[in-house]
Amino acid sequence: MKRKGFTLIELLVVIAIIAVLVSILFPVFSKAKGSARRAACQSNLRQINMAIMMYQHDWDGYMFTNRTPLNSGANYWYMPTGVLTPYLMKGTTIKTCPDNTALTYFFNQHIIACNDTCTPGPGTLSTRAYNLEDIKNPSRKIMLTEPDTSLAGSWVNGGFNYTHYTRLGSHHFGGINVLWVDGHISWVHRESLRDPSTGYIYLAYMYYNL
Ligand SMILES: [Zn+2]
Repeated sequence: MKRKGFTLIELLVVIAIIAVLVSILFPVFSKAKGSARRAACQSNLRQINMAIMMYQHDWDGYMFTNRTPLNSGANYWYMPTGVLTPYLMKGTTIKTCPDNTALTYFFNQHIIACNDTCTPGPGTLSTRAYNLEDIKNPSRKIMLTEPDTSLAGSWVNGGFNYTHYTRLGSHHFGGINVLWVDGHISWVHRESLRDPSTGYIYLAYMYYNL
């Protein structure tokens, strides 16, 4: 006798197999998407680094201050009137991570020198930012990284200092992308930046003279 269609059991078996396959593949797909966003974020940092390099070239190696000219109102680096904007080739999306679009990246306060609200590192922070030649161990010094998704924008504008470990993000698989002072970019697990003896960020990643 020729059978017509499938039995209920056969259908249920097929549905169960599909469900198992989906449950296996879905995390793979979502991890791949997360990896793509992490890579897009690194591409943003690469372009910001190029803008920083062009700025330094124009200013004989000096970094800008967080707000340039100094203390000139809410004139932060990424704003239309901000210091890096003329050097950036893309529009506003370059300043935000695809996994944290509400907030911009933020700078190490100890490197971009002081505005009226930041906490300076050791040494004299004057009205002028550091020259890159003054910064020791640039390959392990954080220039710019990613804030936690829960922060308010006002906490990000001024950058972060070494006490602000909990303001660092963890939205890329428990970590964040970092642009280091020497221009290389890497993903780091947030925990790896924390000095267990203080609960803060390792000073060697933050202070210009360490
Ligand atoms: Zn990111």
